[in-house]
Amino acid sequence: MPGVAEGYRVQCLIDATRRAHAMDRRRSGGRASVTISMGVWKKCPSCGTRWISARCCRQLNAEVYMPNSALFLDRDGVVNVDRGYIHRSEQFEFVPGIFDLARFWTNELRRPIVVVTNQSGIGRGYFDERAYADLTRWMCDRFEAEGTAIARVYHCPYHPQDGIGEYRCDHPWRKPKPGMLLQAVSDLGLDPAHCAILGDKISDIEAGAAAGIGLLVRIGSRDAKMAEPLHDVVADLREALALFRFHFRSHFATAVPDQRCRHP
Ligand SMILES: [Mg+2]
Repeated sequence: MPGVAEGYRVQCLIDATRRAHAMDRRRSGGRASVTISMGVWKKCPSCGTRWISARCCRQLNAEVYMPNSALFLDRDGVVNVDRGYIHRSEQFEFVPGIFDLARFWTNELRRPIVVVTNQSGIGRGYFDERAYADLTRWMCDRFEAEGTAIARVYHCPYHPQDGIGEYRCDHPWRKPKPGMLLQAVSDLGLDPAHCAILGDKISDIEAGAAAGIGLLVRIGSRDAKMAEPLHDVVADLREALALFRFHFRSHFATAVPDQRCRHP
């Protein structure tokens, strides 16, 4: 079993390898087979946890996960039950399964979650930016209390017809336009082709498609029309988590040593 220092050394090695192969990954569409020259895989027969033993000098071929991926979440209808223009914590009911899904993404895949949400209630005058900011802070605190985290939250307060004053604007951040996603891609140095977006409306999917997001997933019924971008449909967050596990597990997790395993 790797101790903390050993696990740290292996992690540094993997990080360095990732950096060295970043260009190759881009050229090869995100997946690359690399050689890690210091370790071999071991797998615990009891818990199934895998790690790299840095004591062994045998060569290892392992898929290294893509480091520039993120999960984009719509807020209303995905993080919380959509009751329309929610702006107080008492109104905010988390959708069952959201924390399990978030923990998978941040703790197992170790990649960031970004929330992208249209909030035209601000532009319409139903609540103000301060109320929105207070609710957002509370929401992020709840994620942290559940052992996960939201890396960034982007919102668009504008509406092209119903916005009041300066908020009456056909803003490039308002979904289905991709502005919020593109800003996050720029801010976090993401590779959109290896990101995913989960929303409950076609506008979420259209924004994701316009931003070049690789995996587009919608919660809802399977009645997509031909004109809509090709996307996956799930009934609920449990199904979404299963889909993400299937889609991303083989891409990401195999090169991450798990220091929690106590089995030799
Ligand atoms: Mg929504």
